[in-house]
Amino acid sequence: MPIDQSEAIILRTQNFAEQDKLVVFFSREKGLVRGIAKGARKFNNRFGSSLEPFSVVRIFYYEKERQDLVTISNCDLLESAFELLNDLKVSYAFSYIAELTEKFSPYRAGEELLYRLLLTIIQSARAGQKIEYLTRYFEYWFLKINGILPDFRTCQKCHQKIKQTVWLEPQKDGVLCQRCVSDKKFAISPWLLQAIDWMKKNPPAAEPGVELKPEDWKYLGRVFQSIIIFHLEDRPKTLNYLDF
Ligand SMILES: [Zn+2]
Repeated sequence: MPIDQSEAIILRTQNFAEQDKLVVFFSREKGLVRGIAKGARKFNNRFGSSLEPFSVVRIFYYEKERQDLVTISNCDLLESAFELLNDLKVSYAFSYIAELTEKFSPYRAGEELLYRLLLTIIQSARAGQKIEYLTRYFEYWFLKINGILPDFRTCQKCHQKIKQTVWLEPQKDGVLCQRCVSDKKFAISPWLLQAIDWMKKNPPAAEPGVELKPEDWKYLGRVFQSIIIFHLEDRPKTLNYLDF
């Protein structure tokens, strides 16, 4: 059987059978893949700590005909996220990011952009960027990569360019201006629009060039999450643990 290898990010694992682990990983070439790491729960197994969530690895695996799960034969650790995950806040944020990635990504549909986004989020967290900001940053780019990011600067109804407050429209695929809006549920202030523009133009490690209060960043998260939940038709379970 031909062995595939790829750089990948481990999203999560769960116990499988007596001594194995089910591993969900996002590979640079093939996107989301699920596989079995045989013997990964045995003491002193060959996988070591390479299967910890958000490890960046080189993973070796082969596929069996008519089977959804690949078999993982080896995994070399390139960058460990182990120390990062000691911080509970980071750990919750990463679980949320992993859940979104798994729920939205078609199985084995390669998505290099999403891979690079995940990698740069991990590296920026390690470089000390605030996880609250990185979570918003991920949400923004995740929506964009999935083609469901609204144009926050143009009214969906009258097509005017807007510099003032806008409101997210109920179908979540656009915004409405002061004149066109009837359901004023999700207001997005000019400051939030600036924060969105900042994320669009800057790498995640850059210090946010917009000063927002923690509650404003949290509110921006609620805006992004309402779009995510609308399209997913489900509320990510890991959101219950995010308090930012
Ligand atoms: Zn309008």
